Amino acid sequence: MSLSRNPEALGAIAFAEQCLSLLDEASYNTTYKFAVLLALMDLVVEKANKDGTLASTITTKQLAIKVIENYWHHVRAYPALQTQPLQGKSGQAEIISSIHTFRDATSFGSIFYVRQNFAAKYQTLVNKVEKKLIEMPLPRLQYFGKQEHRFIYDISWSMTKLVDLKQVTAYQRNQVSNFDNRIHILPHVADYLVNLNGLLRPMIHRAWAMQVAKMNQLEESKLQYFLFGHERNAIHRFADPLQDLQNNRCFYCENTFKGQAKLKPEVDHFIPWSRYPNDGLANFVLAHSDCNNSKSDHFASTDHLEKWRCRNSDESQLKQLSDIAHQHKWELLEQSSVNVANVLYERLQAGTELWQGKGVFVGYVNI
Ligand SMILES: [Zn+2]
Repeated sequence: MSLSRNPEALGAIAFAEQCLSLLDEASYNTTYKFAVLLALMDLVVEKANKDGTLASTITTKQLAIKVIENYWHHVRAYPALQTQPLQGKSGQAEIISSIHTFRDATSFGSIFYVRQNFAAKYQTLVNKVEKKLIEMPLPRLQYFGKQEHRFIYDISWSMTKLVDLKQVTAYQRNQVSNFDNRIHILPHVADYLVNLNGLLRPMIHRAWAMQVAKMNQLEESKLQYFLFGHERNAIHRFADPLQDLQNNRCFYCENTFKGQAKLKPEVDHFIPWSRYPNDGLANFVLAHSDCNNSKSDHFASTDHLEKWRCRNSDESQLKQLSDIAHQHKWELLEQSSVNVANVLYERLQAGTELWQGKGVFVGYVNI
């Protein structure tokens, strides 16, 4: 069908254009808008209903938790600076400072570890970040110059009808409050965010890295990897236990692991990190270094998907995975990982090339 006869496709393109204009808007003093946009993209998928309907309402608290995840690795020291890069034009952005102080006080453990072991402190951080998001980027984000154009979400407050922060505090303390914490995703927008994920996510990453590079006078390409690449070392600890779980066989080609470099085991994100960042143990499989490199950022074929789904629903394997997660103070996230995979695969276009094995791709057929 030609594009002009396909209003849905036209709507998605118009939406993408507006997002691009938003990324270009230079009037921002911090990188919050990028963090909020990415968080919304992730949340509509993560909070989807069981039947695959994307979430149409997100709470400010859910947003705060996701924004913290987005910034979590940004508070490490960047080698060329020996400190974390600034993400504000006039000094460090408040959310980053809060996360840094929190991580400093909790020995820089993984986000899963600190959620379990510093629950009260973590809750304080969530409240702080939530309040900041409510106060600033949420009512400010959809401005083009001096004009507001709400094309992503609607909230009950604005730059002209300011939120009462006392009411927000009361709401956070579970006291009587008239603060409405709902972010209503506008019609079609959740679908656009998912369908355009493969385009928008790298664009947001690039625009974000460019802004941070400018703020710190750094080279942007290296910075982009620092901000959004995955710290492989952090998950290598799961190679041994997964090797036991998989009977020393590669998840994809099912051949055994051997000593040669290319046949060594590597922990792979089944749903690629670049498509949807998920460090839950349920999203990890063990693969030959060779197979992992070849799979790269591609979605695996539906054969592999079926096998992965079975693994995550098989009682005995799930029990083993849960034991591994417990031992390493990690989170399993089995349900949300499967939900995310379902939503992303369901929305793939027929014919999308899926990775089957080294150098072999198959066209996606809707299942
Ligand atoms: Zn293999």
